[in-house]
Amino acid sequence: ITSSLRFTHRYASLGNAYSAPVRPQAVERSELVDMNHNELNTIALTDDTQVRTAIAKILACEWPESERPPVAMNYSGHQFGHYNPQLGDGRGLLLGEIETAQGLIDVHLKGAGTTPFSRGGDGRAVIRSTIREYLASIAMRGLGIPTTGALAMAVNQTPVYRETQERGATLLRTATTHIRFGHFEGLYYRQQHEDLRRLADYCIAQRYNHTDIAAGDYSHWFEVIVSQTASMVAKWQSVGFCHGVMNTDNFSIAGETLDYGPFAFLDNFDPQFVCNHSDHTGRYAFDQQPQIARWNLAALAQALSGLIDHQKLIATVQRFDGLFEHAYQNEMSIKLGLELVEPTLARSLIEGWLALLAQCNVDYSLAHRALADALDAEQQFLNFFSHHQLARAWLHEYQWSLSHTNPAKHRGTINGRNPLYILRNYLAQGAITAAESGDFSRLKALKACLAKPYQPIDGFEAFAGPSPGWAKSICISCSS
Ligand code: AMP
Ligand code: MG
Ligand code: MG
Repeated sequence: ITSSLRFTHRYASLGNAYSAPVRPQAVERSELVDMNHNELNTIALTDDTQVRTAIAKILACEWPESERPPVAMNYSGHQFGHYNPQLGDGRGLLLGEIETAQGLIDVHLKGAGTTPFSRGGDGRAVIRSTIREYLASIAMRGLGIPTTGALAMAVNQTPVYRETQERGATLLRTATTHIRFGHFEGLYYRQQHEDLRRLADYCIAQRYNHTDIAAGDYSHWFEVIVSQTASMVAKWQSVGFCHGVMNTDNFSIAGETLDYGPFAFLDNFDPQFVCNHSDHTGRYAFDQQPQIARWNLAALAQALSGLIDHQKLIATVQRFDGLFEHAYQNEMSIKLGLELVEPTLARSLIEGWLALLAQCNVDYSLAHRALADALDAEQQFLNFFSHHQLARAWLHEYQWSLSHTNPAKHRGTINGRNPLYILRNYLAQGAITAAESGDFSRLKALKACLAKPYQPIDGFEAFAGPSPGWAKSICISCSS
């Protein structure tokens, strides 16, 4: 392992206020399923026999005795609005960090067995949840949305008991950092104020936010977190990504999308869509995401109240709405090709567009691809909508505002910014069902499409269509 993956142990070296050393617990007959070359590249690895062997061993949870053990991170957080004093890595381990030209990258192994934070859980992950996280990370990366990365995954023969007996799987995940809002909440509520300050100093020194922040300037650091979180959620909203479990323990202080569970990409445009079947009150509905992100930032602000002036914290959290709105308008005007249009007009076109999508209940992603036809294939565009009158009225305003645009160029612009391939639940399900019977070809094909989601790939037309009716019956809930 050491010759292929050279880990540093900076987080682990912070000491036992922050984590507990844990050795992975071996699984039965692990089989390496896939490695993600894009993410291997970011940690300067190429797919050769030595790397493959090292990664397969890690995914089998075989950790050499001579190596420093990984650690389970200690954190807490607010789950569905309620504070849970003890969460932590219950089934994941931080193996260490890898130094790259872009800074340190965490490598984390998910599904490696129990830890002191497992709270009665088995510390394992099943095939379906692992494939969902693997593909989601690749899809988000392909869409240019800040996210943890998926390095590789394996399946094994260790039985894992959920509603039924399933098989285990493991995932190697990368991140700028796995430090969550909940790390700070835990230290704050346990009144470990000095430990908390040390962790904040550490985050600033590691440049997790890719911004030069002066040592001790916690206020600037928090401003950057607020703005990066606003920008991340604006990207979610613009592609129709629904996270599903926006608990503060699933929020990264580096502004990366973290912990893919019952997530979904919108099919039909339903702003109130709830993707998590355990979310009975719709707390994490699609259109609630921005204000929940702000709520999470307020929870983090509370935890940082020993480091930053109270009024300053309040003012910084209050800037979230403006930052989000600005970022969201920007994302949407890029999707619609409206960057050169006067901002008030662009804003009204975006509003009208979203109203049209909701009225006609059309597929969110395919509707954006249909915009490619808007300037020179008007009838084709209109056929997409059930309310022709409404669609025509909006289209004329859109055409008028883009009257100086070349239609062919417009088509290219729209198709280059609105994905053809979306990780729809039913597509993930198809890859899972095949994988559970030992066929990983669908998973690999889907991965290839999601990694480059804008251009059609020959032979994969079937992945580009809308979800079939039966997809609505797929039921996804919290941790599995
Ligand atoms: P999640 O919903 O995946 O974000 O997990 C919430 C908390 O439950 C985290 O502290 C996880 O580490 C823990 N957890 C989830 N699944 C398991 C499991 N199978 N075994 C132990 N802990 C788990
Ligand atoms: Mg975890
Ligand atoms: Mg989590």
